[in-house]
Amino acid sequence: MPECLSDKAYCELPWRAMYVTVEGTVKPCCDFRVGVGSLRLHRIGDIWLNRFEAVRAILNTGRPGPGCQSCNTTKLGRTREEAR
Ligand code: SF4
Repeated sequence: MPECLSDKAYCELPWRAMYVTVEGTVKPCCDFRVGVGSLRLHRIGDIWLNRFEAVRAILNTGRPGPGCQSCNTTKLGRTREEAR
């Protein structure tokens, strides 16, 4: 089980999904503030296996990284109990 699914953090999207804009910018979700890669420049496997790792590593700390600062959907930083 990824660390993000532990009691510390509450976001699993970078392990489960990609959000692609019409311009080809790839992010973990629509709320993420910056692009993690571009389908015009990178292979999708490279984005998933390498570029998303940085996002996952930050989320594994249990704190929101720069891309997640305005997220209101996952209640990052709260425990699962608090998020209910
Ligand atoms: S912005 Fe929110 S939903 Fe998106 S990856 Fe970050 S914590 Fe998860």
